[in-house]
Amino acid sequence: MKRDPANNISVTGVPSPKSWREIPIGGVITDAGNSEEYHTGGWRSFRPIWDWQKCVNCKVCWIYCPDGSIRIRDGAVAGIDLDYCKGCGICSKECPHDAIKMIEESAAEAEAKVKQ
Ligand code: SF4
Ligand code: SF4
Repeated sequence: MKRDPANNISVTGVPSPKSWREIPIGGVITDAGNSEEYHTGGWRSFRPIWDWQKCVNCKVCWIYCPDGSIRIRDGAVAGIDLDYCKGCGICSKECPHDAIKMIEESAAEAEAKVKQ
């Protein structure tokens, strides 16, 4: 396709797609092992909220959590490790007692700021 290099528009007036050289780097692991620099919870978009009053300590959530983020203390569920929870919602879906609900991360952060 012929392009007008001054404004990146083809001769037909339709914007040309950019080449890979023109777009910024994104979604690329540039350094091996750079996952050590961030927590999984940093890109979570939904947050599980655990209701200890509904929880019967069956540990179904612990079995299903793919990230080992259900905290167990003295043999009982003690909350959720938000550093490593990715917000997939499996725990909430599998809990037979509706003791975990998912809320948007932005709403959870706003709520936390109000409480400070
Ligand atoms: S699955 Fe639900 S009821 Fe069972 S331990 Fe987890 S939060 Fe509690
Ligand atoms: S939302 Fe997913 S990663 Fe987070 S605690 Fe529940 S099952 Fe584990």
